[in-house]
Amino acid sequence: MSYRVPFVDPREHYRRLKTEVDFAITDTLAKGDLVLRQQLRDFEQHLAEFVGTKYAVGVNSCYHALHFSLLAGGVGPGDEVITVAHTFVATVSAIVHAGAKPVLVDVREDYNMDPSAFEAAITSRTKAVIPVHLNGRVCEMDRIMAVAQKHGLVVIEDAAQALGAAFAGKRAGSFGLAGCFSFYPFKALGGLGDGGAVTTDDPEVARFVTLVRFNGEDRQTGEFHHHGYTALLDNVQAAVLDVKLRHLPDWIQHRRKIANLYSAGLEVTEGLQLAHFEDDRHFDSYQNYVIRTECRDQLRQYLKVEGVETLVHWPKPMWEHRGLHLENPGMAETESICREAISLPMSAETTPEQVEIATDSIRKFFASQSAALRAGTGR
Ligand SMILES: *Cc1c(COP(=O)(O)O)cnc(C)c1O
Repeated sequence: MSYRVPFVDPREHYRRLKTEVDFAITDTLAKGDLVLRQQLRDFEQHLAEFVGTKYAVGVNSCYHALHFSLLAGGVGPGDEVITVAHTFVATVSAIVHAGAKPVLVDVREDYNMDPSAFEAAITSRTKAVIPVHLNGRVCEMDRIMAVAQKHGLVVIEDAAQALGAAFAGKRAGSFGLAGCFSFYPFKALGGLGDGGAVTTDDPEVARFVTLVRFNGEDRQTGEFHHHGYTALLDNVQAAVLDVKLRHLPDWIQHRRKIANLYSAGLEVTEGLQLAHFEDDRHFDSYQNYVIRTECRDQLRQYLKVEGVETLVHWPKPMWEHRGLHLENPGMAETESICREAISLPMSAETTPEQVEIATDSIRKFFASQSAALRAGTGR
């Protein structure tokens, strides 16, 4: 079906950028610059400047950014790595594929790692921690960094959803040993397909990722330094991402405006928790606008009929997928988020008119709910 308010609109996104994107692609192809060329180096330099790190290294996904960062941090068999239960599976798969054991902790109301739960989960085998900056909000990094430093742990940020978000004036991906980003098409900076990057201030980490992403080979000398992977960020992708990166600050401002319109339109709706968490230290980039309600599934169905497309990220906790072979850590907040959270349409193309349609529909839904409740109790 076609929605009055789509969750995202890739065709409109392309239409607005067509001239610049088409030029980047045809120019790169005409020059024959397909692998490891200037376009990739330019994008890496601009990305590092944007994040505020010395280096950025392009890879083919955030998954590989995470995996390589763990390897660069010396994580391997026998180690434990702490991360959150409420994240995309790739965060945990990267730990498993590095040979280490994932230790999952609960999140707080703002969907991010609880620093106290992190500290409580540390054992003598803990080697690293992966805070995940979910929905475009950076974790409480002052506390997380302090705990990690106290226990000598490597910090690797999963910043797949938080390019451009900041905490205490510092951008996501610039706190830990490494920051990991995704350019999957529906992330705030989306490519033509899969893509990712590692940001770091550490020259050793940058060099390791640069080698391991391309079969371990030093292209200057021809020496193979590691058994590596084939996981480059393609040159054409880099050229397109470089064009889009220039628009990202405007897109983030737009997302913040849309978030404020949602909040204004839904403020007085009873039974609904909005995606705003007051704390001046945070600058949120709103990868997702997530609301919570106990009647999430009914709301989602209602909105579908109204022509408003929504998404539920991870309707069941990761450990209920039996093929992942994870223990059930029993996490109250993660479990209730899986039952209650729903993401509203949000992108650089979402319009104020679309927000109005969505918020009107949501208010109508809750009005009909409370009317039904009153009728049901005979009042
Ligand atoms: C998208 C995402 C990833 C994975 O990114 P890919 O580029 O698809 O590998 C990892 N972690 C989080 C939190 C994500 O949202």
